[in-house]
Amino acid sequence: MGATRHLLRWQVSKGLGTLEGHLATGGFNALKRALAMAPDALTKEVEKAHLRGRGGAGFPAGVKWGFVPDSDGPRYLVVNADEGEPGTFKDRYLLSEDPFQLIEGSLVAAWAAKLTRGIVYLRGEFKAIAREFEGALEQARRGGYLGHNILGSGLDFDMEVCLGAGAYICGEETALLESVEGRPGRPRLKPPFPAVAGAFARPTVVNNVETLSAMPLILGMGGDAFHALGVEGDGGVKVFGLSGHVKRPGLYEFGMGKNLRQFIYEEGGGILGDLELKAVIPGGSSTAVLLPDEIDIPMSFDGLLAAGSMLGTACPIVIAEGTSMVEVASRIANFYAHESCGQCTPCREGCGWLARTLQQIISGAGNQEDIELMLSLCDGIVHRTICPFGEAVALPIAAIVKKFRHEFEEAIAGGGHDNL
Ligand code: SF4
Repeated sequence: MGATRHLLRWQVSKGLGTLEGHLATGGFNALKRALAMAPDALTKEVEKAHLRGRGGAGFPAGVKWGFVPDSDGPRYLVVNADEGEPGTFKDRYLLSEDPFQLIEGSLVAAWAAKLTRGIVYLRGEFKAIAREFEGALEQARRGGYLGHNILGSGLDFDMEVCLGAGAYICGEETALLESVEGRPGRPRLKPPFPAVAGAFARPTVVNNVETLSAMPLILGMGGDAFHALGVEGDGGVKVFGLSGHVKRPGLYEFGMGKNLRQFIYEEGGGILGDLELKAVIPGGSSTAVLLPDEIDIPMSFDGLLAAGSMLGTACPIVIAEGTSMVEVASRIANFYAHESCGQCTPCREGCGWLARTLQQIISGAGNQEDIELMLSLCDGIVHRTICPFGEAVALPIAAIVKKFRHEFEEAIAGGGHDNL
């Protein structure tokens, strides 16, 4: 299956940052098609696409819209553009290189779920992208694609940008909503779910940038045709990001189900310096590491689950021989210890404890019991926290410790480990 360029059309087309450029490529025709449909029929069409949420959770997009109850008053679309997962760099390009694709997709969602206001939430570090995106919103407003009675349809919908302060946890949808409301980003207990009581306690749909950016394509070709581009129950094309020790890192687009080994060795050109492959973290730092003999698998939500990991953000990090997996675990643990919001004791204390234990091993102060201690700490975090952050740290650390146990034993026996 070769590379395609629907979502990544900006890699081959110029001028998509302007309204004129978007219109010149048939822009807003998908919206016109959507507005000609009843909202329920539109939702059903998107359900047929089997588009699983591109933020990492994989919840079907159209089904999510169907959870929003009918009600008067404000109803929000919150676009999750936080993208804080280490190794992940796709949404920022969809935002900056093809903003109208996202705006059009947001309008489709607004019509389907009867939403009145869009809030695009970006991490604080994306300030420059935020300013550019505000310019695109203003162009859309002037063109009559945002505001009142859009294209004479009766749809009233406008969008604004909200900048966070750069906390990883604000990628979790309820922490994001807290941040939107002006409070520190701490995940909420669920229920209620955002569809019922989200932003400002109003019905809210939270969708990822890529999820919404796929809507024009779905409406353009139809839900069934989009589904057929992927695998059964996990439809469509997807943006995959490749980084680490690989010759051609970058963004690629394929149908769901692309073989992970082929992705690394064909599109990615193989391992930097023609070294041996040591490991792959398949979908951002919160996914469990895979060994070289575990990567002949389809890159789909179910394919990665069956391999004992997760698709996550679909941005594999390639690790070559010569890399210390003790160091990799330490860096991941340090990151999560820093980013834990601190509400849950297992996460707050467990992440810090893991980070300190790994640091001790690296510095030569570890002992062999630390290996079981780390596995027990991971076990004590999983399923004992308010949000999935707990699993995001415990599962990858436990996988590294189990699959590369000998490296930890050697580092401890050898009195420490040189920093990379
Ligand atoms: Fe905060 Fe961690 Fe608990 Fe999530 S799991 S709410 S990040 S302390």
